[in-house]
Amino acid sequence: ERGRLSRLRHTPAITLDGQKIELLANIELPEDAAAAVKAGAVGVGLFRSEFLFMGRRGALPDEEEQYQAYRRAVEGMEGLPVTIRTVDVGADKPLDDSVRDAAHLNPALGLRAIRWSLADPAMFLTQLRAILRAASHGQVNMLIPMLAHASEIRQTLSLIDFARAELDNRGVAYGPIRIGAMIEIPAAALTLKIFLKYFDFLSIGTNDLIQYTLAIDRADESVAHLYDPLHPAVLRLVAETIAECNAQGKGVSVCGEMAGDTTLTRLLLGLGLRSFSMHPAQILAVKQEVLRVDTTRMAAWAKQVLESEDPSSMVG
Ligand code: PEP
Ligand code: MG
Repeated sequence: ERGRLSRLRHTPAITLDGQKIELLANIELPEDAAAAVKAGAVGVGLFRSEFLFMGRRGALPDEEEQYQAYRRAVEGMEGLPVTIRTVDVGADKPLDDSVRDAAHLNPALGLRAIRWSLADPAMFLTQLRAILRAASHGQVNMLIPMLAHASEIRQTLSLIDFARAELDNRGVAYGPIRIGAMIEIPAAALTLKIFLKYFDFLSIGTNDLIQYTLAIDRADESVAHLYDPLHPAVLRLVAETIAECNAQGKGVSVCGEMAGDTTLTRLLLGLGLRSFSMHPAQILAVKQEVLRVDTTRMAAWAKQVLESEDPSSMVG
Protein backbone atom coordinates (compact mmCIF):
# COMPACT_ATOMS: atom_id res chain seq x y z
CA GLU A 1 0.00 0.00 0.00
CA ARG A 2 2.81 2.43 0.96
CA GLY A 3 4.60 1.69 -2.30
CA ARG A 4 1.48 2.36 -4.34
CA LEU A 5 0.72 5.53 -2.41
CA SER A 6 4.22 6.91 -2.93
CA ARG A 7 3.48 7.12 -6.66
CA LEU A 8 0.94 9.81 -5.79
CA ARG A 9 3.61 12.08 -4.38
CA HIS A 10 3.80 14.30 -7.46
CA THR A 11 0.15 13.94 -8.44
CA PRO A 12 -1.75 17.19 -7.86
CA ALA A 13 -4.55 16.82 -5.28
CA ILE A 14 -7.54 17.53 -7.52
CA THR A 15 -11.01 16.07 -7.05
CA LEU A 16 -12.97 14.36 -9.85
CA ASP A 17 -14.88 17.60 -10.40
CA GLY A 18 -11.67 19.62 -10.70
CA GLN A 19 -11.42 21.20 -7.23
CA LYS A 20 -7.82 21.88 -6.22
CA ILE A 21 -7.20 20.73 -2.66
CA GLU A 22 -4.28 22.01 -0.60
CA LEU A 23 -2.56 19.26 1.42
CA LEU A 24 -0.16 20.71 3.97
CA ALA A 25 2.08 19.21 6.65
CA ASN A 26 2.13 19.59 10.42
CA ILE A 27 5.70 19.63 11.75
CA GLU A 28 7.25 19.86 15.19
CA LEU A 29 10.91 20.52 14.40
CA PRO A 30 12.66 22.22 11.45
CA GLU A 31 14.14 18.87 10.44
CA ASP A 32 10.61 17.52 9.83
CA ALA A 33 10.46 19.72 6.71
CA ALA A 34 12.30 17.00 4.80
CA ALA A 35 9.53 14.48 5.52
CA ALA A 36 6.94 17.08 4.51
CA VAL A 37 8.59 17.68 1.14
CA LYS A 38 9.07 13.96 0.63
CA ALA A 39 5.37 13.34 1.25
CA GLY A 40 4.45 15.88 -1.42
CA ALA A 41 3.09 18.53 0.96
CA VAL A 42 2.56 21.89 -0.77
CA GLY A 43 3.67 23.68 2.37
CA VAL A 44 3.65 23.52 6.15
CA GLY A 45 0.23 24.37 7.56
CA LEU A 46 1.29 24.08 11.19
CA PHE A 47 4.80 24.32 12.62
CA ARG A 48 4.27 23.69 16.34
CA SER A 49 7.02 26.01 17.59
CA GLU A 50 6.56 24.95 21.22
CA PHE A 51 8.78 21.95 20.60
CA LEU A 52 11.73 24.38 20.55
CA PHE A 53 10.70 25.52 24.03
CA MET A 54 9.95 22.24 25.76
CA GLY A 55 12.18 20.15 28.01
CA ARG A 56 14.84 22.84 28.55
CA ARG A 57 14.39 23.34 32.29
CA GLY A 58 13.17 26.88 31.90
CA ALA A 59 15.99 28.20 29.69
CA LEU A 60 14.00 29.45 26.70
CA PRO A 61 15.52 29.75 23.21
CA ASP A 62 16.74 33.28 22.47
CA GLU A 63 15.92 35.28 19.33
CA GLU A 64 18.93 34.02 17.39
CA GLU A 65 18.27 30.36 18.17
CA GLN A 66 14.62 30.70 17.22
CA TYR A 67 15.41 32.65 14.06
CA GLN A 68 17.87 29.97 12.94
CA ALA A 69 15.31 27.23 13.65
CA TYR A 70 12.48 28.97 11.75
CA ARG A 71 14.87 29.76 8.92
CA ARG A 72 15.89 26.10 8.68
CA ALA A 73 12.22 25.12 8.40
CA VAL A 74 11.63 27.76 5.70
CA GLU A 75 14.70 26.74 3.72
CA GLY A 76 13.87 23.06 4.24
CA MET A 77 10.55 23.62 2.47
CA GLU A 78 12.38 24.75 -0.68
CA GLY A 79 10.24 27.78 -1.44
CA LEU A 80 6.91 26.38 -0.24
CA PRO A 81 5.00 28.41 2.38
CA VAL A 82 5.50 27.71 6.08
CA THR A 83 2.93 28.56 8.74
CA ILE A 84 4.68 29.03 12.07
CA ARG A 85 2.42 28.89 15.09
CA THR A 86 3.50 30.96 18.06
CA VAL A 87 4.27 28.98 21.15
CA ASP A 88 1.49 26.77 22.54
CA VAL A 89 2.85 25.40 25.80
CA GLY A 90 0.76 24.34 28.75
CA ALA A 91 -1.81 21.59 29.33
CA ASP A 92 -0.83 18.56 27.21
CA LYS A 93 2.44 20.27 26.20
CA PRO A 94 4.16 21.27 29.46
CA LEU A 95 7.27 23.41 29.20
CA ASP A 96 9.18 21.13 31.48
CA ASP A 97 8.33 17.68 32.82
CA SER A 98 9.59 18.57 36.26
CA VAL A 99 6.89 21.20 36.75
CA ARG A 100 4.05 19.45 34.96
CA ASP A 101 1.55 22.22 35.71
CA ALA A 102 1.14 20.66 39.14
CA ALA A 103 -0.10 23.89 40.70
CA HIS A 104 -3.01 24.22 38.26
CA LEU A 105 -6.17 22.21 38.66
CA ASN A 106 -7.26 22.63 35.04
CA PRO A 107 -4.17 23.31 32.92
CA ALA A 108 -6.20 23.05 29.69
CA LEU A 109 -8.25 25.98 30.95
CA GLY A 110 -5.27 27.84 32.35
CA LEU A 111 -2.29 29.83 31.22
CA ARG A 112 -1.52 28.11 27.93
CA ALA A 113 -0.74 29.19 24.37
CA ILE A 114 -1.46 32.85 23.59
CA ARG A 115 -2.38 33.47 27.22
CA TRP A 116 1.08 32.35 28.26
CA SER A 117 2.66 34.51 25.54
CA LEU A 118 0.69 37.65 26.43
CA ALA A 119 1.57 37.16 30.11
CA ASP A 120 5.25 37.67 29.23
CA PRO A 121 5.48 40.25 26.43
CA ALA A 122 9.30 40.34 26.39
CA MET A 123 9.40 36.59 25.78
CA PHE A 124 6.63 36.86 23.15
CA LEU A 125 8.34 39.75 21.34
CA THR A 126 11.50 37.65 21.10
CA GLN A 127 9.55 34.98 19.25
CA LEU A 128 7.71 37.49 17.05
CA ARG A 129 10.98 39.10 15.95
CA ALA A 130 12.50 35.69 15.17
CA ILE A 131 9.49 34.75 13.00
CA LEU A 132 9.50 38.10 11.19
CA ARG A 133 13.20 37.70 10.46
CA ALA A 134 12.70 34.16 9.13
CA ALA A 135 10.14 35.63 6.72
CA SER A 136 12.95 37.33 4.80
CA HIS A 137 13.99 33.83 3.61
CA GLY A 138 10.68 32.63 2.20
CA GLN A 139 6.93 32.72 2.43
CA VAL A 140 5.98 32.71 6.11
CA ASN A 141 2.56 32.83 7.74
CA MET A 142 2.17 33.38 11.47
CA LEU A 143 -0.56 31.50 13.32
CA ILE A 144 -1.81 32.44 16.80
CA PRO A 145 -3.18 29.65 19.05
CA MET A 146 -6.08 29.65 21.55
CA LEU A 147 -7.51 33.11 20.99
CA ALA A 148 -10.97 33.74 22.39
CA HIS A 149 -11.21 37.46 23.15
CA ALA A 150 -11.11 40.52 20.91
CA SER A 151 -8.80 42.13 23.46
CA GLU A 152 -6.29 39.28 23.04
CA ILE A 153 -6.44 39.73 19.27
CA ARG A 154 -5.75 43.45 19.52
CA GLN A 155 -2.90 42.95 22.02
CA THR A 156 -1.32 40.31 19.81
CA LEU A 157 -1.51 42.42 16.65
CA SER A 158 -0.07 45.45 18.40
CA LEU A 159 2.82 43.36 19.74
CA ILE A 160 3.52 42.19 16.18
CA ASP A 161 3.64 45.84 15.07
CA PHE A 162 5.92 46.60 18.00
CA ALA A 163 8.24 43.71 17.05
CA ARG A 164 8.51 45.15 13.52
CA ALA A 165 9.34 48.57 14.95
CA GLU A 166 12.06 47.05 17.13
CA LEU A 167 13.62 45.38 14.10
CA ASP A 168 13.40 48.65 12.15
CA ASN A 169 15.19 50.41 15.00
CA ARG A 170 17.91 47.79 15.04
CA GLY A 171 18.17 47.88 11.24
CA VAL A 172 17.53 44.13 11.03
CA ALA A 173 15.92 42.64 7.91
CA TYR A 174 12.53 40.96 8.05
CA GLY A 175 9.90 39.87 5.55
CA PRO A 176 6.16 40.30 5.00
CA ILE A 177 3.89 37.81 6.74
CA ARG A 178 0.24 36.84 6.66
CA ILE A 179 -1.27 36.52 10.11
CA GLY A 180 -3.85 33.88 11.02
CA ALA A 181 -5.71 32.63 14.05
CA MET A 182 -6.48 29.15 15.28
CA ILE A 183 -10.17 28.49 15.75
CA GLU A 184 -9.99 25.97 18.56
CA ILE A 185 -12.13 27.41 21.33
CA PRO A 186 -15.91 27.29 20.78
CA ALA A 187 -16.11 30.98 21.71
CA ALA A 188 -13.89 31.78 18.73
CA ALA A 189 -16.03 29.76 16.33
CA LEU A 190 -19.14 31.47 17.70
CA THR A 191 -17.69 34.97 17.25
CA LEU A 192 -16.06 34.30 13.91
CA LYS A 193 -16.88 37.75 12.53
CA ILE A 194 -14.28 39.29 14.85
CA PHE A 195 -11.66 36.86 13.60
CA LEU A 196 -12.62 37.46 9.97
CA LYS A 197 -12.16 41.18 10.55
CA TYR A 198 -8.63 40.99 11.97
CA PHE A 199 -6.95 38.00 10.31
CA ASP A 200 -5.69 37.06 6.86
CA PHE A 201 -6.56 33.37 7.31
CA LEU A 202 -7.95 30.93 9.86
CA SER A 203 -7.03 27.40 10.84
CA ILE A 204 -9.40 25.11 12.71
CA GLY A 205 -7.72 23.21 15.54
CA THR A 206 -10.15 20.36 15.92
CA ASN A 207 -8.14 18.62 18.66
CA ASP A 208 -8.85 21.41 21.10
CA LEU A 209 -12.19 22.38 19.56
CA ILE A 210 -13.47 18.87 20.37
CA GLN A 211 -11.95 18.99 23.87
CA TYR A 212 -13.53 22.33 24.73
CA THR A 213 -16.88 21.77 23.02
CA LEU A 214 -17.48 18.41 24.70
CA ALA A 215 -15.66 19.12 27.99
CA ILE A 216 -13.51 16.03 27.38
CA ASP A 217 -9.84 16.20 28.39
CA ARG A 218 -8.06 15.18 25.19
CA ALA A 219 -5.35 13.42 27.23
CA ASP A 220 -7.57 11.55 29.68
CA GLU A 221 -7.93 7.87 28.76
CA SER A 222 -10.91 7.40 31.07
CA VAL A 223 -13.09 9.64 28.88
CA ALA A 224 -11.42 8.93 25.52
CA HIS A 225 -14.52 7.01 24.34
CA LEU A 226 -16.50 10.28 24.54
CA TYR A 227 -13.95 12.29 22.54
CA ASP A 228 -15.98 12.40 19.34
CA PRO A 229 -15.01 14.40 16.22
CA LEU A 230 -18.45 13.55 14.82
CA HIS A 231 -20.50 14.92 17.69
CA PRO A 232 -23.15 17.12 16.03
CA ALA A 233 -22.03 20.16 18.06
CA VAL A 234 -18.43 19.78 16.88
CA LEU A 235 -19.52 19.28 13.28
CA ARG A 236 -21.71 22.36 13.43
CA LEU A 237 -18.85 24.58 14.67
CA VAL A 238 -16.50 23.19 12.03
CA ALA A 239 -19.11 23.46 9.25
CA GLU A 240 -20.13 27.01 10.09
CA THR A 241 -16.53 28.17 10.33
CA ILE A 242 -15.71 26.72 6.90
CA ALA A 243 -18.90 28.14 5.36
CA GLU A 244 -18.39 31.65 6.73
CA CYS A 245 -14.76 31.74 5.61
CA ASN A 246 -15.68 30.49 2.15
CA ALA A 247 -18.46 33.08 1.89
CA GLN A 248 -15.96 35.84 2.69
CA GLY A 249 -13.20 34.44 0.51
CA LYS A 250 -11.01 33.99 3.60
CA GLY A 251 -8.53 31.11 3.59
CA VAL A 252 -9.42 28.38 6.05
CA SER A 253 -7.84 25.04 6.79
CA VAL A 254 -8.19 22.28 9.36
CA CYS A 255 -4.94 21.39 11.15
CA GLY A 256 -6.25 19.07 13.89
CA GLU A 257 -6.22 15.29 13.63
CA MET A 258 -9.51 15.32 11.70
CA ALA A 259 -7.62 16.63 8.65
CA GLY A 260 -5.50 13.49 8.41
CA ASP A 261 -8.30 10.99 9.05
CA THR A 262 -9.20 9.42 5.69
CA THR A 263 -12.63 8.40 7.00
CA LEU A 264 -13.45 12.13 7.33
CA THR A 265 -11.99 13.42 4.05
CA ARG A 266 -15.25 13.19 2.10
CA LEU A 267 -17.21 14.86 4.84
CA LEU A 268 -14.79 17.77 5.16
CA LEU A 269 -14.76 18.21 1.37
CA GLY A 270 -18.56 18.13 1.41
CA LEU A 271 -18.55 20.87 4.04
CA GLY A 272 -16.48 23.00 1.65
CA LEU A 273 -12.99 22.52 3.09
CA ARG A 274 -10.24 22.92 0.49
CA SER A 275 -7.13 23.01 2.71
CA PHE A 276 -5.99 20.25 5.07
CA SER A 277 -2.89 20.15 7.29
CA MET A 278 -1.72 16.89 8.81
CA HIS A 279 1.20 14.69 9.84
CA PRO A 280 3.35 14.05 6.73
CA ALA A 281 2.69 10.30 7.02
CA GLN A 282 -1.02 10.87 6.32
CA ILE A 283 -0.75 13.07 3.24
CA LEU A 284 -0.67 10.46 0.50
CA ALA A 285 -3.58 8.47 1.92
CA VAL A 286 -5.68 11.64 2.15
CA LYS A 287 -4.64 12.54 -1.39
CA GLN A 288 -5.84 9.15 -2.59
CA GLU A 289 -9.26 9.93 -1.09
CA VAL A 290 -9.32 13.40 -2.65
CA LEU A 291 -8.63 11.95 -6.10
CA ARG A 292 -11.73 9.72 -5.79
CA VAL A 293 -14.22 12.35 -4.66
CA ASP A 294 -16.73 14.35 -6.68
CA THR A 295 -17.43 17.24 -4.29
CA THR A 296 -20.62 18.22 -6.15
CA ARG A 297 -22.06 14.92 -4.92
CA MET A 298 -20.87 15.41 -1.34
CA ALA A 299 -22.50 18.69 -0.31
CA ALA A 300 -26.07 17.42 0.07
CA TRP A 301 -24.87 14.33 1.91
CA ALA A 302 -22.69 16.44 4.23
CA LYS A 303 -25.74 18.50 5.07
CA GLN A 304 -27.62 15.35 6.04
CA VAL A 305 -24.70 14.25 8.20
CA LEU A 306 -24.78 17.62 9.95
CA GLU A 307 -28.43 17.21 10.73
CA SER A 308 -28.18 13.63 11.89
CA GLU A 309 -28.51 12.66 15.54
CA ASP A 310 -25.83 10.03 15.00
CA PRO A 311 -23.41 11.24 12.30
CA SER A 312 -20.98 8.38 12.94
CA SER A 313 -23.57 5.95 11.56
CA MET A 314 -23.30 7.79 8.20
CA VAL A 315 -19.53 8.33 7.97
CA GLY A 316 -16.53 6.05 7.62
C1 PEP B 1 -5.53 21.45 17.56
O1 PEP B 1 -5.86 21.81 18.70
O2 PEP B 1 -6.30 20.85 16.79
C2 PEP B 1 -4.18 21.71 17.05
C3 PEP B 1 -3.87 21.51 15.79
O3 PEP B 1 -3.25 22.14 17.93
P1 PEP B 1 -2.56 21.21 19.02
O4 PEP B 1 -2.94 19.79 18.73
O5 PEP B 1 -1.10 21.47 18.89
O6 PEP B 1 -3.14 21.74 20.29
MG1 MG C 1 -4.66 23.18 19.82
